[in-house]
Amino acid sequence: DPPPVDADFYDISAKLSPEDRALQLKVRAFLEAEIKPLVNKYWLHDDFPFEIIPKLADLNVCGYVYEGYGCAGGSSLVDGIIAAEFGRIDPSIATFLGVQSGLAMGSIYFCGSEEQKQEWLPQMQQLKKIGAFGLTEPEVGSATAGGLTTTCKKTADGWVLNGQKKWIGNSTFSDITIIWARDVDDNQVKGFIVRKENPGFSVEKIKGKMALRIVQNGLITLTDCVVPEADRLPHANTFRDTAKVLQMTRAGVAWMAVGCARGAYENALEYTLKREQFGKPIASFQLIQNHLVEMLSNLTAMQTLVYRLSELQDEGKLKDEHASLAKVFCTLRTRDIVSRAREVMGGNGILLEYNVARFLADAEAIYSYEGTKEINSLIVGRSITGFSAFV
Ligand code: FAD
Repeated sequence: DPPPVDADFYDISAKLSPEDRALQLKVRAFLEAEIKPLVNKYWLHDDFPFEIIPKLADLNVCGYVYEGYGCAGGSSLVDGIIAAEFGRIDPSIATFLGVQSGLAMGSIYFCGSEEQKQEWLPQMQQLKKIGAFGLTEPEVGSATAGGLTTTCKKTADGWVLNGQKKWIGNSTFSDITIIWARDVDDNQVKGFIVRKENPGFSVEKIKGKMALRIVQNGLITLTDCVVPEADRLPHANTFRDTAKVLQMTRAGVAWMAVGCARGAYENALEYTLKREQFGKPIASFQLIQNHLVEMLSNLTAMQTLVYRLSELQDEGKLKDEHASLAKVFCTLRTRDIVSRAREVMGGNGILLEYNVARFLADAEAIYSYEGTKEINSLIVGRSITGFSAFV
């Protein structure tokens, strides 16, 4: 009999405490039982399975790293392990949770007032309120650091926001969206909690995506959208504060990519063990084994890299360039792994029901969001050379 398929070749799980390992296995069992059976159908229909939200809340892993406000106060390492487990079953659901737990809750946790944290974080941890994060604009993607065109202006009634935000995950149904805008008076980037019922706020669903189709992305329009001072994030005063959130979430995307690659590899390996051609399992052919070993080598390199990345994070030593390097390396290697996984499956590799096609498509979006390969490479390049080569 062939050995069981479990792509943890260097036994990273052995580094976890028994409690953390138990949590990993609990998350895995939940995803296998509750999420895996749904995802191909929802992916095909470009729809979100709202029925999973209470079950996800019961799993109690949202906002895992934050202290207080109903959150677990756990390690970044275990948070990463959880992100990889989600990615292994479905990168869309992993992204939904990443936006809620990382981008939206993280903005409030790092940049919000005590009142804002108390109002939003416990409800968001329980997924009773859903959040989104609006940074990218139709004409400004990579250049958000200096180029935001969405404006905010202080008036007697609070702040007036104008502009558009594109690609905003969860925003078609979120209760709040964190909007990043440039202050016309001091030219600095500020952050706001914008509520869905605000009359100046409207969202249109982005249709026709060929990746992460379960994630609902929106095009937001802000038209003289008035936000009270109490909903401005008081500790978001320059783009550096936004970047603090992105540092954490880019590390999370690296872990999610590990999961996506692992899911594709495990499904492909299983397939090659069962599929026979010329009277033998295709896994017995040298050229197929070469693909499998290339996949596993990259996956193992990624797994060990993100492990150390999270150790740095938990030691308080993580820098932007560490997170960017992991995001670039893992999403680039994932693209190679999913494409080989699809290749060893022949025609069935492009059918959703064989559970590799979805990873193949989703890897494309993970590769581009949270900073493209070029932008994250330039962050690393600046740190190792001292030269900023963005413009
Ligand atoms: P552009 O910036 O137009 O880039 C196009 C190409 O030019 C890229 O290859 C890029 O690397 C390259 N390029 C740009 N500048 C340089 C340079 N200086 N040197 C070399 N090459 C360069 N944003 C949010 O705010 N919130 C979200 O929830 C969100 N979710 C997303 C979900 C999905 C599925 C996708 C696809 C995107 C999402 N985004 C979100 C937006 C995402 O962060 C942007 O797509 C990304 O930052 C790239 O911006 P862009 O697509 O405008 O590409």
